Amino acid sequence: MINFEYARASDVADAVRRIAADPTAKFIAGGTNLIDLMKEDVERPSRLIDITHLPLKSVEETPDGGLKIGALVPNTDLAYHPVVESRYPLLGSAILAGASQQLRNMASTGGNLLQRTRCYYFYDTATPCNKREPGSGCSAINGLNRMHAILGTSDACIATHPSDMCVALAALDASVHVMGPNGDRAIAFADFHRLPGNTPQRDTNLHPNEIITAVELPARGFAANYSYLKIRDRLSYAFALVSVAAALELEGDTIKEARLALGGVAHKPWRDPAAEAALRGQAANEGNFRRAADMLLRDAKGFAHNTFKIELARRAIARALTQAARGTPQSQSDKKIR
Ligand SMILES: Cc1cc2nc3c(=O)[nH]c(=O)nc-3n(C[C@H](O)[C@H](O)[C@H](O)COP(=O)(O)OP(=O)(O)OC[C@H]3O[C@@H](n4cnc5c(N)ncnc54)[C@H](O)[C@@H]3O)c2cc1C
Ligand code: SF4
Repeated sequence: MINFEYARASDVADAVRRIAADPTAKFIAGGTNLIDLMKEDVERPSRLIDITHLPLKSVEETPDGGLKIGALVPNTDLAYHPVVESRYPLLGSAILAGASQQLRNMASTGGNLLQRTRCYYFYDTATPCNKREPGSGCSAINGLNRMHAILGTSDACIATHPSDMCVALAALDASVHVMGPNGDRAIAFADFHRLPGNTPQRDTNLHPNEIITAVELPARGFAANYSYLKIRDRLSYAFALVSVAAALELEGDTIKEARLALGGVAHKPWRDPAAEAALRGQAANEGNFRRAADMLLRDAKGFAHNTFKIELARRAIARALTQAARGTPQSQSDKKIR
């Protein structure tokens, strides 16, 4: 048992003050990831700063037609929020594809962004892992790597980001609002998570003394033509082998705007502007969807146990885009269970 202190932040400024004063402290929100990591001895915070009482639990429409989601809005509440259901169903669909109902009830919006990889070696403190212990090596590169990345990998780390929600947020062009000792700033979602490079211990560009206060969605929600397709080993309670968030704006059969983000394939939700640009102005048909998939996966590289993911991703992209174009998104089996 490793001792830690507990403190409750009284407001956002107090939370920032407390984290800035103690670099080995950690915020705790739903605790569904952090507590597991502490039990496995992967995270050893000296102090837990409880942020669950902060006023970051509202979902508000913005003057420019978007939606601002407080960092402490539970995943369940967000998925079933009437504005998300009617205008951003891609987001609700992705959230409901993740974890279980009980976990989604506890999990917060901010915590979901910062959940850590599910690489087996990251959790196993008996093995080398550059993310857990920089410079110790990567056990996955020549080990069991079935769940691992095929895009954007480095010689230091081939882990994936495990979130479903973040794949939809990437496709929807969200931004992340954060507060630190020098005030607040907004980070474009594409710049929030990092590729591993030589510093796989850093998952995101959030500074250690900053707190996430909200996630903002722009007005465009792609409510008519979207699909979140998650391919996994079991139908529930499993992380994605490959997932695809696809969203289209159509004029007749012609694609006006396309969004495509992949989960389970990289250290961050994967988007490729070139593949999306190649779809614009084209007919919404399988040939064009397959060409976009080939373009998106042109640099994909497999390892001993995960090369199958390249073809899986290719087919999943074409299927998700087809479902989006037809207006027949895959429905979630537990959509009506609250
Ligand atoms: C068995 C299991 C299965 C799961 N399956 C899936 C799945 O299929 N898909 C999926 O997407 N997810 C899945 N999850 C992960 C789950 O979604 C995350 O654990 C959850 O979203 C984390 O949110 P939380 O509020 O509990 O975070 P916490 O555990 O409280 O915190 C996680 C991290 O975020 C930091 N943090 C939290 N809030 C803030 C903030 N506002 N500002 C700054 N830092 C903050 C904490 O310090 C900590 O480092 C699964 C989890 C479990 C346990
Ligand atoms: S893939 Fe990344 S998280 Fe997994 S063992 Fe290698 S360095 Fe660690």
